[in-house]
Amino acid sequence: LVSDRKLESKLDSVFVNGCRKPGLEQEKANAAIVVLARNSEVEDVVKSMKSLEQHFNQWYHYPWVFLNDVPFDEKFKTEVVKHTKSEVEFGTIETEKWDFDSSVDRKLIEESIQSQGDRRVLYGNLESYHKMCRFYSGHFYNHELVKKRDWYWRVEPNVEFFCDLTYDPFLEMEKHNKKYGFTVMIEELYYTIPSLFRETNAFKKENNIKVGSAWELFTNGPRKLKGQNAHKYVHLRSEEEIMRRIEKDLTLKKLLELSIKKDSDVDQIEPEILHDILEESRSPPDLYDDRMDGEDYNLCHFWSNFEIARTDIFTSEAYQSYFNHLDKSGGFYRERWGDAPVHSLAIGMFLDLDEIHYFRDIGYQHSVLTHCPRNSLNGQLPFEPAPNSKTNKLRSSSNYQLSPKSPNGVGCRCQCPKGF
Ligand code: GDP
Ligand code: MN
Repeated sequence: LVSDRKLESKLDSVFVNGCRKPGLEQEKANAAIVVLARNSEVEDVVKSMKSLEQHFNQWYHYPWVFLNDVPFDEKFKTEVVKHTKSEVEFGTIETEKWDFDSSVDRKLIEESIQSQGDRRVLYGNLESYHKMCRFYSGHFYNHELVKKRDWYWRVEPNVEFFCDLTYDPFLEMEKHNKKYGFTVMIEELYYTIPSLFRETNAFKKENNIKVGSAWELFTNGPRKLKGQNAHKYVHLRSEEEIMRRIEKDLTLKKLLELSIKKDSDVDQIEPEILHDILEESRSPPDLYDDRMDGEDYNLCHFWSNFEIARTDIFTSEAYQSYFNHLDKSGGFYRERWGDAPVHSLAIGMFLDLDEIHYFRDIGYQHSVLTHCPRNSLNGQLPFEPAPNSKTNKLRSSSNYQLSPKSPNGVGCRCQCPKGF
């Protein structure tokens, strides 16, 4: 994982320190707040809406766009429009865009998903989840309601915002030549994406992509043979599979080091030695593949349930051909590739570090992770309270281990949850 210090030194500072009177901007960006959701999630969608309207959109009036793989029902539609004064658009995703390509063998899909379920890969057993991740990785951007916007802010049901945002993030990003904004970075579960990096690198090589400087956020650089990664075998289903994999993966050199002859049957290796091999086979198997360029993915990614980004990063030919490459490789069903690592690796390939913005001033919570900055100016309210904002409690901030640390004094009237 990228260290906090590295992020701090590589990424930019906040656009606005403290608060200002919201909504003073003359212009407006061509942007929308976009939510993919199911009809059954209407209550959670409303929670997210209330929170974002209160802290931002009541002053900025950006349109809300709702997407679903089946048509939204009347209940959903009538409910959500009650919670914003902005324009609201509803889109249904074409079945061909939501489903896996019909040329893919159904049985293969089902077996792969079943096998991930057996191996307890998180969400691996849910075909709908695989489809959602695939959609967000690719076809999302070609949906007419998204494509027609220059910018999107991705929101999920049941997320919460804690700080007033008293400036227009889209305009500020534009002004500062930023293309992708995030609030939280975390580490991916290896066994959801064992071959994502190999496919990414294969794409990169085939297309002669000269990576942007953001690439370094996601790679460890060439690895030494010692260090880590025995745990990466955990995604393999059975002992037998592990044995086969070890046999295949270990270099002859490694075997010789352990004084085991090349042709020796793995079954005949003593358990202790095998254990050592597992512990010692530090270099991930993929590194022996010449498509890897001796690099590996450090599993770090932007947590994509929050994104403020330019649409054209992802509608670009380069990104779309990356998505098609990944799609063809079958990883969206063979494994359970999340859209977060997919987006992140693409950002690494196509953007420079200074085109990424860390929204450390946006307090945000989704499921188990929270990011919440301190209020600014050492506890003094920096500006008159924004209309409709609740009274502030000034709290100190901290972060869960895996999200980047918020420095002091950047938030604008944040009401952080307990413990922050
Ligand atoms: P998590 O955040 O990784 O736990 O995944 P979620 O279950 O929150 O799903 C991510 C986003 O995709 C949310 O906005 C969900 O509403 C949406 N989503 C997930 N599965 C489906 C689905 O089958 N249909 C629709 N329409 N939306 C889905
Ligand atoms: Mn979610």
